[in-house]
Amino acid sequence: MPLSKPPLAEKLTRRIPASQRPDLAGVLIPEADLQRRIALMGRAIARDYAGKDVLVVSLLSGTVLFLADLLRRLPFPLRVDFLGVSSYGLGTESGNLVFNKELKLDVCGAHVLVVDDILDTGKTLRAVTEKITALKPASIRTCVLLDKKDRRVGSFEADYVGFRIPNLFVVGYGLDFAERYRNLPFVGVLKPEVYAPKPAPKPGPASARKSAA
Ligand code: 5GP
Ligand code: MG
Repeated sequence: MPLSKPPLAEKLTRRIPASQRPDLAGVLIPEADLQRRIALMGRAIARDYAGKDVLVVSLLSGTVLFLADLLRRLPFPLRVDFLGVSSYGLGTESGNLVFNKELKLDVCGAHVLVVDDILDTGKTLRAVTEKITALKPASIRTCVLLDKKDRRVGSFEADYVGFRIPNLFVVGYGLDFAERYRNLPFVGVLKPEVYAPKPAPKPGPASARKSAA
């Protein structure tokens, strides 16, 4: 008798490396879907920027895998620079924004394409575009792999979006939690208990009685 096909969730969970399986609830965007979508984004960007002096500004460190794959899909001369911005610290809620690496290249007169991993509240990209606009580029646009639109505070839209995703904390494909999981080749969902561990149970009446004894 032929084996029945496993349900999709179970099939996707099998792709998670065994050592990280206990931390992940599942795969949200498999590797093949990422590559297919990035190829289409590359085509759209190439159409819009043909013949222009393009400077790609990538935000460290979450863009590392997305940037590498996107750049391979941009078949025209361009420059790449990196801006270090940190907003999350070691938790999952937006904290204060810190610039920890400045641009090296001259932005003035260039057509700047800012590349980020995920657009959440919009605070990071708003601050970054303001900072770069002050350096007088010829134009500035933004490109993100993921967009959590429901989390936006105020209005901010990216010009190029890979995937709109629900309000889940995701890791993998460059995205981290406490600097881990960046090397996963897919976008996965972290189990809430990993980033919000349950508090230790308070001693109940039984243990109170025991310690009083
Ligand atoms: P925003 O300033 O738009 O609130 O946050 C943007 C930054 O927060 C992203 O560049 C990313 O570093 C981080 N971030 C937002 N949501 C997530 C998420 O679901 N997973 C991870 N790993 N980082 C996130
Ligand atoms: Mg980021």
